[in-house]
Amino acid sequence: MSTGSTLTMPGADVASQILLAMRNMGVAPIPRNYNLFYEAFIGSNPALSKELLRFGSTVTQEELDELGARFFNQGHSRIIENVHERLHLELEALLTVLKQEQSSLEKYNRVLDETRERISVKSATSTSIVSAAISILAEATGNKISQGETRSKDLNRHAEEMQQVRLELDEYKRIANTDSLTRLSNRRAFDEKLAGVYDTSIGLHLSSLVLLDVDNFKRINDTYGHPVGDKILASVASVIRKSVRGELFVARTGGEEFAIIAEKMNADEVREMCERIRVALEKTPFRNSKTGIDYGQITISIGYAIATQAQNPVDLYTNSDVALYNAKSSGRNRTILFEEGMQKNYTGKGWLIYRT
Ligand code: GH3
Ligand code: MG
Ligand code: MG
Repeated sequence: MSTGSTLTMPGADVASQILLAMRNMGVAPIPRNYNLFYEAFIGSNPALSKELLRFGSTVTQEELDELGARFFNQGHSRIIENVHERLHLELEALLTVLKQEQSSLEKYNRVLDETRERISVKSATSTSIVSAAISILAEATGNKISQGETRSKDLNRHAEEMQQVRLELDEYKRIANTDSLTRLSNRRAFDEKLAGVYDTSIGLHLSSLVLLDVDNFKRINDTYGHPVGDKILASVASVIRKSVRGELFVARTGGEEFAIIAEKMNADEVREMCERIRVALEKTPFRNSKTGIDYGQITISIGYAIATQAQNPVDLYTNSDVALYNAKSSGRNRTILFEEGMQKNYTGKGWLIYRT
């Protein structure tokens, strides 16, 4: 969004313009913010556009949420409704073009038919009848060609618009599945991915669920404040991401908790990966480059379980969580593989957070 006095109707790439505007204003690219900006951009709510502009580049999440609550009480499904409506309109327009094409074809076929009948009767051997038929045919063909060209342009335009809506939907899906602080997949995406592990038994024997929980993270927040905690969490996420194969699914599942769905890896390979993450984090210095403040060593505890040790995603999660609990209770900063018979009835803080 420019810092000008009006919010203008965006051009072709609506989603990327909105995201750019959000980035310029320092706004987290999360669905509810996107929804708010979308409404402001398309100008369907001038009062909202005005309010957003008033904030300039200093808007806070609280202020945005307050705006959201004030301007739409229907929750955050508006963007989906909007895209849905546009898809609907596009499909109707396409249908109209196709119907026009159908009736034009029928008309042309009729002319062809009539002409054929006219020149096939015995009396139709005279030059004048044949030449009249040819000129009728030429005219009908000319009309057909020009209508065809118009329709072809219409179809291309609609195809481009449909493609645009598809890109917006893809972008919205990406935003809806991404954690705004760390850019990793979020809990929603994780739940979906985990459920998929048992959808087909193919590859089950080579899949593990790894749960990671930052050690004593409360100390960071209590000592240096939440914003510093957030920055450290983003750095922790980046260490994890860089320590694992690019195609592996990595999510931030909660506050200072992460998960990896390790596919096509045996138990030893998973352990190696976990240790790589653990050691990389242990060795990463966390300090403020401007003030020189050293935030101290950050470590992580890791529990993992193999998919075949469980019957379903919930049990798999529980197993990994039990392993994580054992890593915590046996001293933290370590990796533990779940084994049958491990203490399950743990109490106290409890890392069991799976929501069904
Ligand atoms: P443990 O080693 O037992 O896991 O200790 P811990 O302090 O990490 O565990 P606990 O669950 O007691 O505390 C987790 C803390 O993480 C609580 C909260 O202050 C912090 N936290 C959770 N989510 C966020 C977040 O999004 N940002 C920040 N800055 N802190 C968060
Ligand atoms: Mg925790
Ligand atoms: Mg913790």
